[in-house]
Amino acid sequence: MKNSEKRKRMILELKGLYLGLRFSSAHIVFGHDSCGVIHGHTYYVDVRLNGEPAGEFNFVIDFKVLKKIVKGICKTLDHRLLLPRDHPYLKYTFEGKYIHLVYSYRGCKKEYKLPVEDVLLLPLKGITAEELSLYIGGVIREELLKLEVESIEWIEVTLYEGLGQGITSRVDLK
Ligand SMILES: [Zn+2]
Repeated sequence: MKNSEKRKRMILELKGLYLGLRFSSAHIVFGHDSCGVIHGHTYYVDVRLNGEPAGEFNFVIDFKVLKKIVKGICKTLDHRLLLPRDHPYLKYTFEGKYIHLVYSYRGCKKEYKLPVEDVLLLPLKGITAEELSLYIGGVIREELLKLEVESIEWIEVTLYEGLGQGITSRVDLK
């Protein structure tokens, strides 16, 4: 890449704390000493992406478009008990309007029966800030690919579990 091309690349950033990109959800870190019980957090989402100004307005991407995508994701995750679909020691079955969960590992067994409308099953191995940041990055990626925003190279998502502690993961668009 030539220097003149490199200079055109910019980093766009959304700060969830200021923009209301947040959701309040419950989770369980199965098997963990203190986090293995049902408890909740208010999560904040920051997004950074690297792209090149282009188009009629010379935007990397319209802030409004990206905010709408992230707000939509937050809305889906908000006020649910988030559950991992692919956890190695968690089995689940649907029984009418209920989901029945059994966690079993090394002599520890827990069972839950919950209304389906209270939970959201995500294609993850666990509901941790690490997994959630990757999940959110993946969903943003899918949405951006639909928009054919060609210059964007990568997206970084920082997921804050409460204020002051977060995980950043990066997904490539190309
Ligand atoms: Zn937690």
